[in-house]
Amino acid sequence: MNRVNGDTIRCIDPRTGETNGEIPTTPLEQVGSEVAKARAAQRDWREAGLGARKTAIRALHKAFLANADKIADLLAQECGRPAGEAWTAEIVANHELFGFWLGAIDDLLTATPIQLNPINYPGKRGVVRLEPLGVLGLITPWNLPVAIPLRGIVPALLAGNTIAWKPSGVVPRTSAFIHALMVETLPPDVVVLIQGGGAHGAALIGAGIHRVFFTGSVATGKKVAHAALEAGIQTSMELGGKDAAIVLADADLDRAAAGITWAAFAFAGQNCAAIERCFVHVDVAEALIERIVDRTSRLRPFVDVGPLVTETQLGMVRDHVAQAIQAGARVLTGGAAPGPGYFHEPTVLTDVTDDMAIMREESFGPLLPITTFDDLSEAIDRVNNTDFGLTTSIWTKDLELGESLADNLDCGVVTVNNHSFTGALASAAWGGVKDSGHGVTNSRFALYEMTRPRTILIDRSKAPEMWWYPYNSALQDVTRGVIALAGTGSPKLGALLKVLSGLKNRWKEDT
Ligand code: NAD
Repeated sequence: MNRVNGDTIRCIDPRTGETNGEIPTTPLEQVGSEVAKARAAQRDWREAGLGARKTAIRALHKAFLANADKIADLLAQECGRPAGEAWTAEIVANHELFGFWLGAIDDLLTATPIQLNPINYPGKRGVVRLEPLGVLGLITPWNLPVAIPLRGIVPALLAGNTIAWKPSGVVPRTSAFIHALMVETLPPDVVVLIQGGGAHGAALIGAGIHRVFFTGSVATGKKVAHAALEAGIQTSMELGGKDAAIVLADADLDRAAAGITWAAFAFAGQNCAAIERCFVHVDVAEALIERIVDRTSRLRPFVDVGPLVTETQLGMVRDHVAQAIQAGARVLTGGAAPGPGYFHEPTVLTDVTDDMAIMREESFGPLLPITTFDDLSEAIDRVNNTDFGLTTSIWTKDLELGESLADNLDCGVVTVNNHSFTGALASAAWGGVKDSGHGVTNSRFALYEMTRPRTILIDRSKAPEMWWYPYNSALQDVTRGVIALAGTGSPKLGALLKVLSGLKNRWKEDT
């Protein structure tokens, strides 16, 4: 059933499957005028200066923390998010995100001086400044409905952009609440909210934004990329994943089991960097599987593992389990969707093969297929043999080996003895390769996608430049002398004299 219908979005509690409210959509024909408002607001926002922008973002940070309970409550109602996850991933992580950007932004936006050789370029100075792009279009998914938007919005605003934000139609109340905090603390229209579904996202791309930052599925990402090309704007794409964990024979199995269980089932697996494939060395497979199954079977519904967020998502997860069982996989724990709402049990499977859908397609649910390997290089080939390339973890006590294996993995992030949490670190670059997308979230590298470098050169010289007209023999003397001065073999004094005499005669038309 479509949640976005005409002028309303139905709010559904995934813990029960019941509709518990409605939120108005932004009329489609109004998308252009919303972007126009953000465009009109951008000049003042940029000209207000970094100090004023930091003050406003500090106020937003304060309002965010003051409303943490309310945000956690909305996340429970709209995503069925257990409090443990709401507080760690969406409250504490965002608190740190504000802190990082407010602390680092002055340095990161400091203009870089350009290098000017005073002999060739006398009387000049120059800088490269990072300038805002203008209005950024942000299209976001439902799985981390606060953290993902804020990762874009906070640095983009500090850099002087304004934002047109189109959140997922699955989380309209959380998005409306976060936007209301922005309305309360920031100047008007610095962030405009477009509530709706796919049609609203599509309309946003052609509505005069300067770049689109998209987080979502590969299928939608490809549509967005095509539309952006037509509209002549650049894209940053954070798409799906099929992350693998590789457990070597020397791994600390207790830690590996605890970490892999968490990274597979946190957010009920609805995390782009959830572990969806586990490759374990055959020598320790039994011991690891036993530990993972034990931990998984003790996870508490709705306390440790929430529901799937939508009925469609639940259907996909059930299909992956059914297809895997039919093809010969064995369920070691879980496997059912007993409800209430869209709850699916955390499920561990073995006897899986790499060609099964559960090993190839993004499940985005609480499923952990485990397979074994004997030879490490063969395991790495199997891990890389996917359309995705977001993150991979290696579990080993040999930290040097773990770090060096990163070079062989075809993905954006590699972690040794941990998984996925670096996505919550504002100073660590996050992004995938292949179908997992392009572009960067978090860190200075993300800031480069939200700004463009502008070189500014200031010249105090009175004399004409050496390379201006006329092109005479004195110009040849100067250029050859400059090259000889830079060389190693030729006598420097002779070269210098050549440059000086060339400069002296440079403006005599007949030399
Ligand atoms: P989705 O692709 O269905 O929707 C994402 C957003 O795109 C929503 O706001 C949606 O309304 C909008 N949209 C839909 N059709 C559109 C169109 N034609 N033009 C423009 N916008 C359109 O994704 P989802 O189900 O909301 O999110 C889950 C997906 O997001 C998973 O694949 C997950 O891996 C991915 N994800 C990736 C990252 C990452 O960092 N790489 C992070 C979180 C989620």
